[in-house]
Amino acid sequence: MAQFRHLFEPLTLRGVEIRNRILSTGHQTYLAKGGLPTADFVAYHEARARGGAGLIITEAARFHATTFTDAPEIIVASDDCIPAFRTLAQAVHAHGARLFGQLSHPGRLSRRVQGGLRGVAYAPSAIPDNRFHTMPREMPVAMIEELVDAHGQASRRLVEAGYDGIEVAASLGLLIAQFLNPVTNRRTDRYGGSRENRMRFLCECLGEVRRQIGDARVVGIRISAEEIEADGLERDEITGICAELARLGLVDYINTTIGSMAGLGGSVHVVPPMEIAPGYVAPRAATLKAATGLTVFVAGRINQPQLAEQILAAGQADMCGMTRAMISDPEMPNKARTGRLDEIRACIGCNQACIGHFHQGYSISCIQNPVTGRERVLAAPAPITRIRRVLVAGGGPAGMKAAVVAAERGHQVVLCEASARLGGQVLLAQRLPERAEFGGLVTNLEGELKRAGVEIRLRTRIDAAAVAAIAPDAVIVATGATPYAPEIEGRDEGHVVDAWAVLTAEVNPGSRVLVADWRCDWVGMGVAEFLARNGHQVRLAVNGTHAGQHLQMYHRDHWAGKLHRLGVQVIPYARLFGVDRETAYLAHIVTGEPILCDQVDTVVLAAGSHSETRLEDELGTLGVALHFAGDCLSPRSAEEAVYEGLLAGRAV
Ligand code: SF4
Repeated sequence: MAQFRHLFEPLTLRGVEIRNRILSTGHQTYLAKGGLPTADFVAYHEARARGGAGLIITEAARFHATTFTDAPEIIVASDDCIPAFRTLAQAVHAHGARLFGQLSHPGRLSRRVQGGLRGVAYAPSAIPDNRFHTMPREMPVAMIEELVDAHGQASRRLVEAGYDGIEVAASLGLLIAQFLNPVTNRRTDRYGGSRENRMRFLCECLGEVRRQIGDARVVGIRISAEEIEADGLERDEITGICAELARLGLVDYINTTIGSMAGLGGSVHVVPPMEIAPGYVAPRAATLKAATGLTVFVAGRINQPQLAEQILAAGQADMCGMTRAMISDPEMPNKARTGRLDEIRACIGCNQACIGHFHQGYSISCIQNPVTGRERVLAAPAPITRIRRVLVAGGGPAGMKAAVVAAERGHQVVLCEASARLGGQVLLAQRLPERAEFGGLVTNLEGELKRAGVEIRLRTRIDAAAVAAIAPDAVIVATGATPYAPEIEGRDEGHVVDAWAVLTAEVNPGSRVLVADWRCDWVGMGVAEFLARNGHQVRLAVNGTHAGQHLQMYHRDHWAGKLHRLGVQVIPYARLFGVDRETAYLAHIVTGEPILCDQVDTVVLAAGSHSETRLEDELGTLGVALHFAGDCLSPRSAEEAVYEGLLAGRAV
């Protein structure tokens, strides 16, 4: 379509034609088992291929014993793996997408846990990192040579399985980046010292990959255009390295990102959260493109086809990594190509269920699209046997999703919301600083409701009489939760307010504020930032080990940096138990010893919420089929709300 002239222009690399410029970059799914792609793994990538992706690069493949852990990752270390990868390649190719494999060795950036024990990590030199706290062992030359060969062998296996190309990971501070970096590579042999020597390992790996796979397949690298870490590779050095690779003719493309996993600051950019501007890496990609003349891919919060088209049209890059855009909506490319832009479920950069699941050791999903990672289980609901009249009580994410799914299945659905707007607590969450994009969850669901033909009644509180009047066959209760007010000694003496009341400007906090954060998530950090930005002197007392303890780490760390900049004092291990006119009384959550905070004008509570169960109690005796979803069962997050909404919509 004319609007996306660049996005849907095919790209040919070494005779391999890629149908468009939309790329799913290598990302861990945790859907592998025993080192091999499972049926779930295949279904996940097949869904993206069917949805119109041009190129899929599978996740970091391990290929040498020094990379193995207990994590459910793919391993390409023996020829036995070839049939399983062939199944994947056939599934992806059947839908017209191309498939590249990424080879990745973490070097020092791993805790290398197997059976609960840490293994030995190897790196160019014995220089520790600042995230995994690993002191590696200097890699002997014999191991370097073994790894060069292993790169080639692994590439050959993937190509034999039908892969169209190989990507060598030199990004994010991984092993090859450690060799390239004069700060982490202190070797005095032929692999250290001058740039030529530091590049030797990378060049030998690329040369061996090419030697073993022949000339008909694509070879590229992934590299950070800037590592943004204290001991990270500098921007100019990386540009010089890429220019030299181009001169040597060793790669067909450069896939660029920014950041490094060697520390918490650089790690934020591994999967940049919503606070970071969409498409922010594109100027860096343009620099590499100008310096090398090579085909350049770029990623970094490219969440909409319009933005990708803009980057391509400006000549900043040749292909756009839109990984989360397709985790959230695998059909995004097809929808863009056929002009159904309003139907795209845009990724909101929350990081909760994609990289968030990975960090918790669970397989990939999406808070907006629970089918992701569960394609085989949830993709196709059973057909309905008769059309039912379904009443959904509550217009938060759970109720909205339930209504969409029930209506899409063919039921006649009425969604009633007591307030004047749909969205529930998302409407509050989007008020937190730099969290407006979270509201996209509601925008996306509103579009789905409209297309599904759900009847929406706002300002309509459901009770037994209303149920009797509507006469539904089934009621889905999704009435959410309300703020929890814990018992606090002396509460009436002090000025104690709820965090949501602060964000909605219903209260006026004094100039010296203590935020008492029981949740250790978005709300405490967000309201602390909000108040500090508005000139308040803020202390944040967290009932946990650290602020944002329950947040996805890239969000948490980015936020921690912002609070530090704003001068917010964080008090960890602290539980609020009392207040008076100017003092907040905290107890250390381990020792119970008091922590006094004086000169406090206002205490802001981020104390969570409790379930709204009134309707459940009221309807229990009516005899109508009841289903429940979301916070009315137990207050959790939007992810559980949407997931349970989907299940409830399928259950009626
Ligand atoms: Fe995007 Fe959030 Fe879904 Fe991840 S979980 S793909 S960040 S919407």
